[in-house]
Amino acid sequence: MKVVILGSGTGVPVKERGCAGLYVRIGGEHVLLDAGPGTLRQLVRLGVTYLDLDRIFLTHFHPDHCLDLVSILFAMRIPRPPRTKPLVIYGPRGLRQLYRRLNTAFGGWIAPRTYRLAFKELRGHTTLRLGGYTVRTAPMRHSPGALGYRLEHRGRAVAYSGDTDVCEGIVRLGRRADLLILECSMTDERKVAGHLTPSDCGRIAAQAGCRHLVLTHFYPVFKGYDIPGRVRRAFRGRLTLARDLAKFSI
Ligand SMILES: [Zn+2]
Ligand SMILES: [Zn+2]
Repeated sequence: MKVVILGSGTGVPVKERGCAGLYVRIGGEHVLLDAGPGTLRQLVRLGVTYLDLDRIFLTHFHPDHCLDLVSILFAMRIPRPPRTKPLVIYGPRGLRQLYRRLNTAFGGWIAPRTYRLAFKELRGHTTLRLGGYTVRTAPMRHSPGALGYRLEHRGRAVAYSGDTDVCEGIVRLGRRADLLILECSMTDERKVAGHLTPSDCGRIAAQAGCRHLVLTHFYPVFKGYDIPGRVRRAFRGRLTLARDLAKFSI
């Protein structure tokens, strides 16, 4: 399994960090988790295009996590070469309504012409067996219906929080994961409800017993801040602070 952080930032634009997006190569498929603005272009930098994607999993509908859905579906209408591969998009309740509204807002320009497009709305704890691999979800503490995901293939697992506050669901998804990717939005001193701080992340990783903790979704407030120092109070395992296009093989 290969995992690439496409964007390690948030809705606040900074030069070196794009919005949320995660690319996973798993079981022969090209999978995208979240699709914040800029994700489509970051994929191209990896050599993956809109023609390759098999499935998209959205954690929630804040624009920094899903706005490039429009760009991706619009690109898929470009007739040469035509996209023929089916695409399945998963997300919380309201996904179909979001698509319908976006398609109306854009005058029908994101509707598929040459391929099959399916939507699957998920809630709470769900397990999907998708050919060669398994996807599990759990509710996150962020916005209504927000989901975290865990992808498993051949005994290896990656878990991703999207946005969340401390909750049982993310500990469960991260249980002994080879890679636990957590949002880390705010400093310990400026905690915001619905998001994690470095200390929160350290405690979650320790409880989950993950092998490698990756932090992402940094607001600019972290400039000069000792993130590892806070995480290390609880978690002694491997720790990476993500940059855009950081790659992991598990
Ligand atoms: Zn959010
Ligand atoms: Zn966010």
